[in-house]
Amino acid sequence: MAKRNTVGPASVGDFGSGPWAAARDLIDAPAGSVNIAHEAVDRHVLSGHGGDRAMLWLGKDGTRRDLSYADLADAAARFAAVLAAHGLTTGDSVFSLTGRVPELYAAALGTLKAGMVFTPLFSAFGPEPIRTRMEIGAANALVTTVPLYKRKIAPWRDQIPSLKLILIVGDEAPEGCVALGPAMAAASPDFETVRTGPEDPALVHFTSGTTGKPKGVVHVHNAVLYHAFSGCEALDLTPGTVYWCTADPGWVTGTSYGIVAPLVNRVMMIVDEAEFDLERWYATVERERVEVWYSAPTAIRMMMRSGAEIADRYDFSSLRFLASVGEPLNPEAVVWSEKVFGRPFHDNWWQTETGGIMIANRPGSTVKPGSMGQAMPGIEAAIVERTDGHLRTLGDGEVGELALRPGWPSMMRAYLHEQARYDKCFLDGWYLSGDLAMRDGDGYFWFVGRADDLIKTSGHLVGPFEVESALIEHDAVAEAGVIGIPDEAAGEIVKAYVTLNPGFTADEALERDIRGHARKRLGPAVAPRAVVFRNTLPKTRSGKIMRRLLKARELGLPEGDISTLESDET
Ligand code: ATP
Ligand code: MG
Repeated sequence: MAKRNTVGPASVGDFGSGPWAAARDLIDAPAGSVNIAHEAVDRHVLSGHGGDRAMLWLGKDGTRRDLSYADLADAAARFAAVLAAHGLTTGDSVFSLTGRVPELYAAALGTLKAGMVFTPLFSAFGPEPIRTRMEIGAANALVTTVPLYKRKIAPWRDQIPSLKLILIVGDEAPEGCVALGPAMAAASPDFETVRTGPEDPALVHFTSGTTGKPKGVVHVHNAVLYHAFSGCEALDLTPGTVYWCTADPGWVTGTSYGIVAPLVNRVMMIVDEAEFDLERWYATVERERVEVWYSAPTAIRMMMRSGAEIADRYDFSSLRFLASVGEPLNPEAVVWSEKVFGRPFHDNWWQTETGGIMIANRPGSTVKPGSMGQAMPGIEAAIVERTDGHLRTLGDGEVGELALRPGWPSMMRAYLHEQARYDKCFLDGWYLSGDLAMRDGDGYFWFVGRADDLIKTSGHLVGPFEVESALIEHDAVAEAGVIGIPDEAAGEIVKAYVTLNPGFTADEALERDIRGHARKRLGPAVAPRAVVFRNTLPKTRSGKIMRRLLKARELGLPEGDISTLESDET
């Protein structure tokens, strides 16, 4: 049976005083407790919306499955009951390692309902990244599949003493594991939601590992208030909206805006098991009449690469709002999407640490191509500089570190086992993001680069984004990754790695032409001195270009943590 949480109940005052407090009526929070699963599904069932469509699942093989809010609530309750029946208790840690299957969503919601902490991992991770993350998170249970278990877990399973339970999706399980299908069928659907307090841990997410070893970021149940708020403010999610977030829950976007925010706002979400496939995506938008689409620059650049002609064959008239996150969205991509989809992609910025969207081109606001948009209502953002152990706020037009005033509900509460690193993120009452940006006179923020990626060349500070955006304006260039290479005379010189659009040949003449184009756009000081052609660029599983890896390889240095690297050519 469900155990009561030991942490005391919350008072409504704990929801804070930002404009999201007004979103209090988007959530229920019965008697001062807050539980994400209750807000995401049970509340809708209780208010008579159990029959509303919650999810349309599209299997890789063409299977379609509709799940209502009542179906999801039932599955979550049964999953919670299975955990409890195997002796897991409030605060225990449950990991998932599966593709985007309905059981993953039941596991996320069921874990939260049981007052336990959920950590989704990308199923494509290799055995070692999985093991280290499960060690860091002291996993007590894991949900996975037979092939993933055999290949990636079985060899080291005994080395994680905390791991008590392995649930296997489907009807059969290897020895020492439990088959989830029969266990859920036998479980009671009446599991009583654990009355978690607002500050009780709910989710641990690992960062993308773009800049180094991934960090385990802790989020609490109260985050749901900000998810409810930002889901409607930044993504225009309203009850019944047909919404497709293309991110995998192994990346924070796929949980905050691929599970919590959409369900709390009672939308109908599309979940596609398959990976990116241009025509499949276009056909899905057309057939399912997708209204709000949340994706990432890497996918958008792939769409651009395949040209507008394919897109012209589809009907995109259902789309009313498009958004992008995860990497800088090149202005070219915004202009392209306006042409092809009739609407621009709206860039927004946030991090695993912030748990929710902080800076956004919101619905109805003017989009400035190349800008991440304005601070969300209630979010105080500034550009700062560290001097003598303190922060100085910079003026409009100056480049510095993007800082946020803490206090919104989805802010991280810890880096697991890394207190000193966590403490270093805060100074003089600000949270420091580690990203460099500039704010213009209209309050729009412009991404310059990650602090680690900044290039210092002949007295100029160069952000890779500016150079990459100029490069992809060239007809031949599909994607670009720009780094600084040490140079005696200039300090560093700018070097670019590019992939090409179909129909172009990687030769010297093209290299010269691309450099010439960049020089015209950026001037000789900033334009890359060398352009190298590649078939692919090294990227994280969430689709981010790993500039630190381009640099390490260029300089023959150790590659560092590459646990999140998607397979690439080396
Ligand atoms: P790690 O912290 O492990 O190096 P990561 O920072 O890539 O990985 P995430 O939390 O997934 O992990 O990504 C957040 C980062 O992604 C931001 O700090 C920023 O650098 C980048 N980012 C996200 N959205 C945008 C955007 N709209 N424009 C530019 N950069 C973005
Ligand atoms: Mg980061």
